[in-house]
Amino acid sequence: MAQTTIATRDGPPTTMTQETLDAFRQRLRGQLLFPENTSFEEATRLWNGMIEKTPALVVQPETTDDVVTCVDFTRERDLLLGIRGGGHNIAGTALADGGLTLDMSRMNDVEVDPNARTVTAGAGCLLGDVDAATQEHGLATVLGFVSETGLAGLVLGGGFGYLSRRFGWAVDNLVEVEIVTADGEVRRTSADEHEDLFWAVRGAGHNMGVVTEFTFRLHEVGPEITGGLLAFPAETPDQIDAALEAYRAVTETAPRELTVFNLFQRAPPAPFVPEEWHGRRIVGFLVCHTGPPERADEDLAPLREPLGEPVADLVGRRPYVEQQQLIDETEPKGMHYYWKAIWTDSLDDGLLDAVGDLFLDLPSPMTKLGFVHVGGALNERATDDGVVGNRDFRYGLGILGMWDPDSPDGDAHRAWVREAWEQCRPFSTGGHYVNFEPADEPADRVQSAYRDNYDRLVEVKTKYDPENLFRSNRNVSPDPEARAHKTK
Ligand SMILES: Cc1cc2nc3c(=O)[nH]c(=O)nc-3n(C[C@H](O)[C@H](O)[C@H](O)COP(=O)(O)OP(=O)(O)OC[C@H]3O[C@@H](n4cnc5c(N)ncnc54)[C@H](O)[C@@H]3O)c2cc1C
Repeated sequence: MAQTTIATRDGPPTTMTQETLDAFRQRLRGQLLFPENTSFEEATRLWNGMIEKTPALVVQPETTDDVVTCVDFTRERDLLLGIRGGGHNIAGTALADGGLTLDMSRMNDVEVDPNARTVTAGAGCLLGDVDAATQEHGLATVLGFVSETGLAGLVLGGGFGYLSRRFGWAVDNLVEVEIVTADGEVRRTSADEHEDLFWAVRGAGHNMGVVTEFTFRLHEVGPEITGGLLAFPAETPDQIDAALEAYRAVTETAPRELTVFNLFQRAPPAPFVPEEWHGRRIVGFLVCHTGPPERADEDLAPLREPLGEPVADLVGRRPYVEQQQLIDETEPKGMHYYWKAIWTDSLDDGLLDAVGDLFLDLPSPMTKLGFVHVGGALNERATDDGVVGNRDFRYGLGILGMWDPDSPDGDAHRAWVREAWEQCRPFSTGGHYVNFEPADEPADRVQSAYRDNYDRLVEVKTKYDPENLFRSNRNVSPDPEARAHKTK
C-alpha cells in the first residue's frame, strides 16, 4: 500500500499509510493536498523565490474545526507543522519542509460592523481583502502597504503601515482573536479573556497557535485621501543629500495625518516615469495624507520646495484602497529577496550620510533602500503593552536586496545587504522587527526583537505550547526547566 513520508518535529521522518491519510481527510471539510495535486503548487508558492521548501502534505482548512483536527493530528504524531497566511515572509517560515502545512487561504471571510466600528477577518485574508471591505464604510484599521501581503503573518508580528502614526501598531487595534492552541482548544482571547495569551499574540502570535480569526477596531479614513508617489532625481551626492534633508524636514514637521516613506532606487520602466529616466537613480516618496485635503500642500511643502522639478508627481486625491496597492507591482512574487532592517528613533546626520553612500554603491539594479515613518501613536503606549514592544522607534530603515533568480551574483548581493546593514546598525534602537528577519539569522536575534518583554514571552509560550508545536516561525523556545516542573 502507498505510504507518505512526513518530517517530524524532533526525530526521523515518519511514514503514513494511505489508509491513515484517508481517515484524516474524511475528518476535514477542506482539502488535503499532495505534491502531485494541481493546486499544491499554488498553495505552497512563496513571495521569496529564494526559499526552497516543499511540504509532504498541505491542508486547506475551511473551518475552525478543520484547524483543530489538524493541530490534534500533528501533535499526536509529532509532525512538523507550518502555517501559510499570504506566503510573504522573507524567511519563508510559512512552509514546514517535508512536514504538514496549513494553507489558510480558504478562511478569508470579512465582516464589517459599521456601528461597532469593528471588522472581523479570517486568517487567510490578504490585506487588500480587509481594506476593500472596510473602505465601503469609509473605515480602516492599521495594515501594511502592499495589498497582497498576508494579514495573519503581518499582524501577528506587530504590523505597521501608513496609519501607524495615528493608530499605532496593527496589534494596538486588535480587539479579539480566535486561536487554536497546541492542546487543540479553541480560545477567544482579548484584553479580558486569556489576557496572557492575548498579550503574546500581539507581536509573537506565530508562536502561540493557529489564529483563525481577528477582530480589529476601525477608524474613519478616506474613502478618498491625498496620496501617491513623488519622485526626484538622485544621481549626484548633492541631490541625494538634498532628498534626505527634505525627508528629515517633512517628517519632523508632519502632522500625524501625513506619513511619508521613501525608496532610493533605479527608476522602473513604468508608464508614469518619463522614458529618459528609466533605469536612472531616483528617490521615490510614498505620500499618504489622511487629513483635510486643503492641508496637504502645506504639510508637504518641506519636501517639495527644496527639491525642485520632480521626475514624477502622482500625488493627488485617490481612494485609500488604491494607495494601499500603489507599489504592489514593484514586489513581484518569485524574485530573490534578502532584506535587513533597523529601527531608529531619529534621522541622525551619520545615518543619512551612510544611506546616501550606500545608495551610490548599490550592486543589483533592483536593490533599494529607504525609510518608513511611523513615529506617533505607536510611541505613546507602555513598552509592555503587548509583547511587540519597541515603542521607541520613529523610523525604520529597510535595505531591500532583490535580484533575478538567474543572477549568478546572488551571494554577492546578499553579502552587500548584510554589510550595508552592519554600517547602519550603530544608529539602531537595539530592537528590530521579527517580520523582516531573513532565514539565516541566528536564534538569539529573536530575543533582541522582544527586548525586555522576552522573559515573559517565554513563560507564556511554555504555558500554551510546551512542546514547541508552533516552531516554523522566528521561534521562541519554551523554557525546558519550567516544562520539567509542569510534568512532575
Ligand atoms: C512586499 C512586502 C511588503 C511588506 N510590507 C509590510 C508593511 O507594510 N508592514 C509590515 O508590518 N510588514 C510588512 N511586510 C512584512 C510582513 O509583515 C511579513 O512578511 C509577514 O510575515 C507576511 O505575512 P504573511 O501572512 O504573508 O506571511 P506567511 O509567510 O504566510 O507567514 C509568516 C509567518 O506567520 C505565521 N502564520 C501565518 N498565518 C498564521 C496563522 N493563521 N496563525 C499563526 N501563525 C500564522 C507562519 O507560520 C509564518 O511563520 C512586508 C513584506 C513584504 C514581502
